[in-house]
Amino acid sequence: MPELNPEFAKFQKELETLLKELTNRLTRAGLTKVQLAQIAAEVDFFQELKSFGFEDLVNKYFNGYDKIITQKINEAAAQGVKGLANVNIDSLLQIKELETQHLLKRAEAFSLQYKRELFTSLIRGDSIPETISKLRDITLTDAQLGTVLNTQYSEFSRTATKDIYKAKPEQRFRYVGRAGSSGIIPTNSEQCRWLIENQKPEGYTMAEIDAGIETPFTHQYGDLKGQPKMIYWQGREPNFNCIHEWTSIYDNKS
Ligand SMILES: [Zn+2]
Repeated sequence: MPELNPEFAKFQKELETLLKELTNRLTRAGLTKVQLAQIAAEVDFFQELKSFGFEDLVNKYFNGYDKIITQKINEAAAQGVKGLANVNIDSLLQIKELETQHLLKRAEAFSLQYKRELFTSLIRGDSIPETISKLRDITLTDAQLGTVLNTQYSEFSRTATKDIYKAKPEQRFRYVGRAGSSGIIPTNSEQCRWLIENQKPEGYTMAEIDAGIETPFTHQYGDLKGQPKMIYWQGREPNFNCIHEWTSIYDNKS
């Protein structure tokens, strides 16, 4: 069970609905095999996905990235952080551009596979329900892409925070489930939970975090077997599916 990022959970759900709709439309009309074969030949399923709002869905997902940056910069400005003009927003947003393109490519590949499956299934002589069920099994994201998309929001947010506060080395940070929220998101990782619940009240500097915060747990297997479980700037190590991040502590006295 990964630590699920709420934005990704929402995206995944909406994507599933969209893909279901693509197949439902084929079944609803009560088409014959001949008509289905005709559709398989004529329809561009990538265009279909787009007309169902796939691009909007992707854009909506990645637009959250702009919000993350704006929110963090405003927060830092309110805290009197200098050098904010030097934060390289363009290179941060390049990530968003690349991910958008990557997802569009995946959708294209999905559409081709969908068409191929529809065709071959009909030629093989499968029944219509068999064909439909095969179409439903085709996925647009796999576990690996899911992991990337799930953690990338946090990855992006963590990188943005680091960029923004690099000019203020004395800044202290608190480990949270999500910047801007009170903190604990359900997690199955004992080290993330422990740090969220047991961190020093004054927080940690970036240098301390980069050196790693030791937790009382030990890796039981893998390359790190026998070593203490650490938390770094990018969360736990290894950080697959870790969505926790460091948020700046605002000192009202200054
Ligand atoms: Zn975590």
